[in-house]
Amino acid sequence: MSEISRFAPSPTGLLHLGHAFSAVLAAEAGRFLLRIEDLDQGRTRPEFVAAIDEDLAWLGLAPAEPPLIQSKRSELYAAALDRFRAAGLAYPCYCTRADIAAALSAPHGDSPRYPGICRDLPDDPARRASDPHSWRLDVDKALARTALPTWREGETDHTATPSDLDDIILARKDAPAAYHLACVIDDAASGVTIVTRGVDLRSSTAVQRLLQTLLDLPEPTYRHHPLVTHSNGCRLAKRDHAPTLAAMRAAGIDGGTLAADLRAHRLPLGFALAHA
Ligand code: GLU
Repeated sequence: MSEISRFAPSPTGLLHLGHAFSAVLAAEAGRFLLRIEDLDQGRTRPEFVAAIDEDLAWLGLAPAEPPLIQSKRSELYAAALDRFRAAGLAYPCYCTRADIAAALSAPHGDSPRYPGICRDLPDDPARRASDPHSWRLDVDKALARTALPTWREGETDHTATPSDLDDIILARKDAPAAYHLACVIDDAASGVTIVTRGVDLRSSTAVQRLLQTLLDLPEPTYRHHPLVTHSNGCRLAKRDHAPTLAAMRAAGIDGGTLAADLRAHRLPLGFALAHA
C-alpha cells in the first residue's frame, strides 16, 4: 500500500462514534499514522490522550509509528512562522473575539471571515513586546505571489475562489502555531499522501493548500467523509451526550465488529451519516 494516511484527534474530550468512523476510514486509506493535535494546552488532558490509544486498540487499529505529538514540535512551527514573517505575509493581530464580533455587522455562519482590523497597522515592535497577539496570514499578499490553490478529491480537481480563503491565524496568542499551520507541517513531515477527515473540515482545504504552496510542501490528496449524526440529524458533539467509545467499550460492545461495520458504512441503531 503506497498511500500514507493519518488520524489527527484533539485530546480535549473522549472520542465518540464520529471519531471511530474517521479513524477506520483513515486506517483503510493507507499506512495508518496517529497525530495528537494538542496545541490547545488549556483544554488538552493526559487522560484523553491515553483514551485515544485505548480506543484505537479496541477498534483494532494499530498506528504504524509512535504518534506525532504537536505540543513537542513548537520549534518547527516557529521556524515556519518566521518564513511567513520574513516574506511579509504575516501580521500581528491584537484582536479579541469580542473585537472581531463587534466589527462584523451582519450575522455570519460558524466561521466568520476576519474583518481585517489589524491587517494594515504600522509595525510597532514596542506593542508587539507588550501586548498579546496572534499572527495572521495576509491572504491578499499571498495571492499576489502565487496562484489560487488547487487540490484533488477523489476524481475531482478543485480550484479555490478568493472567498474560500481568509486571513487565518498562523500562530495563536498562547501557542506557537494554530491548527492550519501545524497541520500542513505535520502532514508533510509524516509523508501523508491522503488526508482523510470529516466533511466539516472541507473548508480548511483551500487555505491549507495555500500554506503548502507557500512553504514548498508536497500536495496530498483529500477525502472528506460524511459525519456521523444522531438519527434525527443532530450532530454528535463532545458536549451533547454523544456516546463515547470508552462508554461503548465499557458496555461490552466489540470494537472489532464495530470497526468492520463502520468500514462498510453500517452504523449502530440510532445513528446516521450526513453528507454535508
Ligand atoms: N484535530 C482535528 C479534529 O479533531 C482534525 C484535523 C484534521 O484531520 O485535519 O477535528
